[in-house]
Amino acid sequence: MNSRRQFLKAALASAAAPLVSAGTRAYGAPQKKPNILYIMSDDHAAHAIGAYGSRLAKLNPTPTLDRLAREGMLFENCFCTNSICVPSRATILTGQYSQTNGALDLGGGLQPPQQTLPHLMKQAGYETAMVGKWHLKHEPAFDYYCVLPGQGSYFNPIMRETGGNWPKDTRRFSGYDCKHSSDAITDVSMAWLKKRKSDKPFFLMHHYKAPHDNFANAERYDWLYQDIDIPEPESLWDSGNHGSEATKGTGTSIGKRCDWRNMGHHMFVDRSLSGEEYKRTAYQRYLKKYLRTVRGVDDNLARLFEYLKKSGQMDNTVIVYSSDQGMMLGEHDFMDKRWMYEESLRMPLLVRYPKMIKAGSRSDAIVNNTDFAPTLLELAGVEAPSSMHGRSIVPLLRDREPADWRKSTYYRYWMHMTHHDNPAHFGVRTKRYKLIFFYGLHYVPERRKPTQPGWELYDMKNDPHEMNNLYGDAKYAGVVKELKTELRRLRRKYNETDAKYPHIQKVIDKYWD
Ligand code: CA
Repeated sequence: MNSRRQFLKAALASAAAPLVSAGTRAYGAPQKKPNILYIMSDDHAAHAIGAYGSRLAKLNPTPTLDRLAREGMLFENCFCTNSICVPSRATILTGQYSQTNGALDLGGGLQPPQQTLPHLMKQAGYETAMVGKWHLKHEPAFDYYCVLPGQGSYFNPIMRETGGNWPKDTRRFSGYDCKHSSDAITDVSMAWLKKRKSDKPFFLMHHYKAPHDNFANAERYDWLYQDIDIPEPESLWDSGNHGSEATKGTGTSIGKRCDWRNMGHHMFVDRSLSGEEYKRTAYQRYLKKYLRTVRGVDDNLARLFEYLKKSGQMDNTVIVYSSDQGMMLGEHDFMDKRWMYEESLRMPLLVRYPKMIKAGSRSDAIVNNTDFAPTLLELAGVEAPSSMHGRSIVPLLRDREPADWRKSTYYRYWMHMTHHDNPAHFGVRTKRYKLIFFYGLHYVPERRKPTQPGWELYDMKNDPHEMNNLYGDAKYAGVVKELKTELRRLRRKYNETDAKYPHIQKVIDKYWD
């Protein structure tokens, strides 16, 4: 009888929950906290998810994620703050911009005490686990972990697991021939969910290696898209001169031959093909390989969700899907990420939790990856510490954009002309405009050659593919002035100035006005 009364009380609290304003106790006292499943892929661009409705949607790349979107909320304007693996992951774990958490580039990492999110989730009464791609170098501060070392392997991955001697001990996923990492990672998460004994709710970070390059799919997807022509982006044939002097000739090209980093080289395209044919072939091979690894992620998620459903946990689990950043899939003739250009800047963000979120809803509010930790903490019933820069998106999940919600987001990429020849830059994105400054220098003066500094301005409403740099056009002088003021404000607010890098500050001072 007593338990029945408690059940009814919990059910009533649950029904009333949407009326309760977002606060530290959003769920009503007697209700058990929800499980939280945070899923992240590596380099999965939003436009390679069907629900985002891009040119690739008609290929049906992600039926499971599309269902997640139909049953939850899709964020149209989620942006990362530094479009590269390690820094984005560090931001997600700390809720802080790169200069504050110290992970500016791929050399960064997070020591266990710095891994704020799992510590606070433990304090909030959660059993915590981290499975898959980790990339933050130091031992994960979770109750359980089983993670790939560094980038990890696509096939027969070895992983480092709780209880071993970090980082020496590894466990190979033996007993399987050519076990694909997406299959292995899903197996590990499901095994942990099945065997755990705790009556605490779980917080599981479930991270795939796919679809990061070199885009190796499980054999069962070799047939996929075999006889299909993947639609090309409008900007594939972009001359590369639309931007500014600062970006001319930079970045990894799809079709530029003679460059060992170009996609044609990567995809073993016959060098004797004509320029146009060479580029087309490279693009087709790139997209097919990429989308096959995406389907591997999607099918594994179907398996994971089916388990949650069968074990009665689906609706009491908040499911979040994202990627550490976006990816250029041939737009402007580019591959890879790093750019503040749209396809690399945007992160997919889908959230399903029927007790709070209306099925099939969408939000165009500007959110970024500093918001993830505060959100997960509020869902766990605790407040984010003031040291976090982000803000919980729980009010947005309840379909309400607060009047004082941010109107712009700050971005910075640091690794000047490394790996994929992208110049370092920073900028600001509002719903309507994007202003980028390429300052042409590495943050630590070194032998890499400086590039020409320059600004780019895009009108995202009239020019969503960023084909026309408006910087310098007198009609936009007022817009530029406002955006520069906003950029300066955000840089101060988030400790993202260049006080520590006088050689960069000098360039900024020279080119600001
Ligand atoms: Ca990545």
